[in-house]
Amino acid sequence: MRFAGENMVGGKRIIVTGGAGFLGSALCEQLLAEGHLVNCVDNFLTGRFSNVRHLIGRQTFKLIRHDVCAPLRFDGDVDEIYNLACPASPPRYQEDPIYTMKINVVGTLNMLDFAQSKRAKILQASTSEVYGDPVVHPQQESYFGNVNMFGARACYDEGKRCAETLFHDYAHERGINVRVARIFNTYGPGMSCDDGRVISNFIVQALRSDDITIYGTGAQTRSFCYRDDLIDGLLRLMNADDSLRAPINLGNPAEIAVRALADRIVKLTESRSVLRFLPRPQDDPAQRCPEISKARSLLGWEPKVPLDDGLRKTIAYFADEIHGGAAAAGA
Ligand code: NAD
Ligand code: UDP
Repeated sequence: MRFAGENMVGGKRIIVTGGAGFLGSALCEQLLAEGHLVNCVDNFLTGRFSNVRHLIGRQTFKLIRHDVCAPLRFDGDVDEIYNLACPASPPRYQEDPIYTMKINVVGTLNMLDFAQSKRAKILQASTSEVYGDPVVHPQQESYFGNVNMFGARACYDEGKRCAETLFHDYAHERGINVRVARIFNTYGPGMSCDDGRVISNFIVQALRSDDITIYGTGAQTRSFCYRDDLIDGLLRLMNADDSLRAPINLGNPAEIAVRALADRIVKLTESRSVLRFLPRPQDDPAQRCPEISKARSLLGWEPKVPLDDGLRKTIAYFADEIHGGAAAAGA
């Protein structure tokens, strides 16, 4: 396998694993816009061809169907790797918990070995889930977390924690140039209608006039970051000073209860949907909010898109997905 647009001059040679997913495809697009050569590595477990279809045929883009649980064979130089391969939605990563763990452990080992062999810089898409159901609020990078290692979320939480350990150990033992982004709940265009996460569920339900499914009372909180802000944070982290190897939180500190989020989405979509209360999933974190002073001071980064603006864009996107744009009420 050789690199996309290899004979072209200028631009970095970049690999994005999970590049056909929600965040990965937006990242590929931004990297291409900046003039880089992008190889998207994905096995389409949760990613969609439609996310990258418009990039196919570009000289600087190549799609490689590959499962990161197997070693990646690849000729030519690589400058940077963004390791995003892993299902992110709780119902999706819980479908096959052993495979989820394997992706995070074996897949991460493979990509770290690959980075070492290519002398490439590698960034890990970690998660706020490393903090589990946090008893410290807001969550700072120094907090060790509160994770149930036998729970329904453990395959993802402990898998991502293990991946962070591997990144740390490869950096210290083998001198690999690493970055670790602890990503908090991020939403936006590019999510699939059946993704299963809260914002996609609520918007799709509202647009279809289905009941809005609230798990528990809806008093639990999350802090939602718009896709473009998050991508900007990932790029800044990758391009930051090489001394920045410790994990860094990327998320929007504007915290909101799930019930209030449902009300906002019903209002913005002018939906007739009513709220339906269902049992709360096991180990569902009660509250989550990033403390982002490190990102502010070290990356000069903070989110810019307010929730309502991001929701309007996301509603317009889902309306288009569902009705070809006809139902973009309020968007
Ligand atoms: P997503 O499910 O849309 O994308 C994940 C991508 O990885 C998909 O394209 C999927 O097909 C691919 N993938 C999964 N297993 C693979 C494998 N074994 N080999 C190759 N490709 C594989 O999820 P997303 O929201 O885009 O998340 C991307 C990354 O960011 C994930 O690692 C996730 O854990 C992390 N993250 C996301 C959020 C968020 O709110 N979106 C929050 C925290 C962390
Ligand atoms: N949630 C909900 N209804 C849904 C989907 C999710 O009430 O249809 C809740 C879920 O219980 C959690 C919050 O919304 O408290 C965020 O869930 P999501 O799956 O988006 O992300 P995570 O729990 O991983 O932060």
